[in-house]
Amino acid sequence: MEKLTKDELIEVLKDLPVGEIHCFDEIGSTNDFGFECSAAGAPDMTVITAFEQTKGRGRMQRKWITAPGTSLPMTVIIRPTSEEMKYLNLFSPLTGLAVREGLLKGYKIDSRIKWPNDVLLNRRKICGILCETQWEGDQLNALILGVGINLLHGSAPEIPGLNYPASSVEDETGVIIPRAEWIRTFLTQLIHLRPFLGKQKFFEQWESCLAYKGEETRLVRQDGSSERCIVTGIAPDGSLITTDQNGETKTWIAGEISLREI
Ligand code: ATP
Repeated sequence: MEKLTKDELIEVLKDLPVGEIHCFDEIGSTNDFGFECSAAGAPDMTVITAFEQTKGRGRMQRKWITAPGTSLPMTVIIRPTSEEMKYLNLFSPLTGLAVREGLLKGYKIDSRIKWPNDVLLNRRKICGILCETQWEGDQLNALILGVGINLLHGSAPEIPGLNYPASSVEDETGVIIPRAEWIRTFLTQLIHLRPFLGKQKFFEQWESCLAYKGEETRLVRQDGSSERCIVTGIAPDGSLITTDQNGETKTWIAGEISLREI
């Protein structure tokens, strides 16, 4: 479990078009620091990572647990182009796709994406994504893309009340991915996929690795009520399309529902 240094990371990323590089031994939250950097004018593709993250966040006040050295937290600051502004809600699945493609291209590991963005191996969550927005008045300043991946054994939290079964890349595949190598692999894919945001190829790729596609699953609403449905696909705006037992089709926007095993 090597601790990365900023110099090592600069060396590993030297031929990629990244912005500033920040590498901490310990940090509260890489996304919180991302907000600070962004407000201070950090450029597009600024990268922040840490060996240990003590106050990792998930969606809706949830906690993201980062076991030191085995789970890897990373934040990327995105300054969207005017074209990308049309597709801001797709950056979160784009990040999930970059994780999937990184695992596939780099290590021949075939993961699924649980809509909208969680990455699963053998139906267990190995990666969570938190995409936040930073505003200056009514102007969007940046997207703060947080991505936590459980790389090694010991990173999946063993605590009651997890919202989904958790695991790590090593536990599911036996593959040990060094931290610096993963950061490079992931960023390479993020850079490669970004021009396809909102394009047909993007949706095709996302849909082709959708967890539960064609299967019956449980859809849980924000108020805790749930229903069974079949996951059918993804609409052109990124919504999830489902069909219920009566054949009725519905679409759901991110944040409205969570998918769970039956
Ligand atoms: P949903 O499945 O409802 O869409 P979510 O995937 O958006 O939820 P996140 O905000 O991404 O949820 O993740 C936070 C949740 O993930 C926590 O509430 C906890 O249950 C779980 N969790 C926290 N740390 C880890 C980890 N290292 N590995 C796997 N799961 C974790």
